[in-house]
Amino acid sequence: MPTTLPTALRPYLTPVHERLWQEADAFAAEHVAPRVKHMEAMLGKVERKTAELMGARGWFAITVPAAYGGLAKGHVAKTVLIHRIATVSGAAAAILQASQIPVGALVHWGSHEQKRLWLPQVADGTVLPSIAVTEPAMGGQIGGMQAVAERDGDTWVITGSKVHIGNSHLAGVHVVIARTAPLEVPASRALTAFLVERNRRGLTVRPHRPGLGLHGFSCGRLDLTRVRVPLANVLGDVGQGLNVAQSSSILYGRPNLAAVSLGLHEAIVQTTSRYLKHRPRYSGALSDLAVVRDRIGDMEARLRAARILTYQAVHLLDHDLPCDTDLINSKYLGHQWAGRSGRDAMELHGAQALDAGYPMERLWRDIQHTHPPAGTGDFQRIHLAKAALQEDPIEWSVQLAAQTAWSPQDATVA
Ligand SMILES: Cc1cc2nc3c(=O)[nH]c(=O)nc-3n(C[C@H](O)[C@H](O)[C@H](O)COP(=O)(O)OP(=O)(O)OC[C@H]3O[C@@H](n4cnc5c(N)ncnc54)[C@H](O)[C@@H]3O)c2cc1C
Repeated sequence: MPTTLPTALRPYLTPVHERLWQEADAFAAEHVAPRVKHMEAMLGKVERKTAELMGARGWFAITVPAAYGGLAKGHVAKTVLIHRIATVSGAAAAILQASQIPVGALVHWGSHEQKRLWLPQVADGTVLPSIAVTEPAMGGQIGGMQAVAERDGDTWVITGSKVHIGNSHLAGVHVVIARTAPLEVPASRALTAFLVERNRRGLTVRPHRPGLGLHGFSCGRLDLTRVRVPLANVLGDVGQGLNVAQSSSILYGRPNLAAVSLGLHEAIVQTTSRYLKHRPRYSGALSDLAVVRDRIGDMEARLRAARILTYQAVHLLDHDLPCDTDLINSKYLGHQWAGRSGRDAMELHGAQALDAGYPMERLWRDIQHTHPPAGTGDFQRIHLAKAALQEDPIEWSVQLAAQTAWSPQDATVA
């Protein structure tokens, strides 16, 4: 992977970001690349080592204020880390991104006590969080959620199932969204977020099952059977669960997934260019043929556009500017474009693309996984249409602006 920074990103990167870029590339080359084969071969095993190494560097707390032990470097910095790791391993980047979404929920919605308890543990890598929203029946339709939490004296009792939960097997604490009001109450008031520690009685993490791609990343099922948590474990206020889930998905989930797609996209274009240049055809190489050049040109155009979109959106976020739609768009087009380049790349490789162990088939499998999380393409287009029609959804980048002022002097939000 190139370690020289693309010129188009200069407006968005400070010297701090540039150092992180080099650091992430060095880490990926030294620690991640040698484990990729192992992750692919050990199908059905959760990759813990890479998570530990990233945790020890404080990377899960890259956006956490220094007052809580975090690195306080903001969203562009987070994007740099996820993007660069994804150029080497989509699974390692998925591990890094999945726990950042509940970190966002804690930073924006946690009480001082909750932040003081959990964020330093995230910062020193001893605890990773997960966020558990999706359910077996209702999928991405959060308003139809069936998991319920009932108040019983000084506790809440939670029952329900959650599926496709990123870092389900690594997390020490889960941010679980459950229904605390009857179905007829609008979702904007009916849901609540709870911090559920891994060892709570009644919580079962189902055995890890590998997916099509992202081998090593755990994305499993949690079953909660009358799990009892104290009142102090409510994250935000009772009835604010939709806000907690939605804001962390928009401010953290969307740009994280854009960064994973970007890293995979870069690897796809680079792997394909290298292959075409070295594959003999007639008196030259495949890359000499006009029809092949045309397709690789299109791939490069999409990659360059995705790069700018991804970094510009988080740059706006770091600067307290309204950017929800830009974050959504970067996730949407980032996946779409990487997916199209992935399909071109598979075809341009011919049968070689299908060879198990050759990077292209892994990259193609991995890119399928950036479509559903943080909202499928259909959901992104619903948001984008609202922007076009000037309907007024909540702008989380504005509402939570005080906590997105990431410069070190603004880092204390306690
Ligand atoms: C790698 C990965 C990581 C994930 N991490 C997490 C996590 O950490 N926490 C978590 O809670 N979830 C996580 N998810 C789950 C993800 O959020 C869901 O997959 C997503 O919300 C879609 O739900 P679903 O897959 O059940 O699809 P469904 O909601 O059943 O949708 C199926 C299809 O119907 C379309 N559709 C559904 N409703 C509408 C509508 N109203 N209008 C138009 N089209 C619609 C969808 O776009 C999709 O194409 C993860 C998923 C993956 C793949």
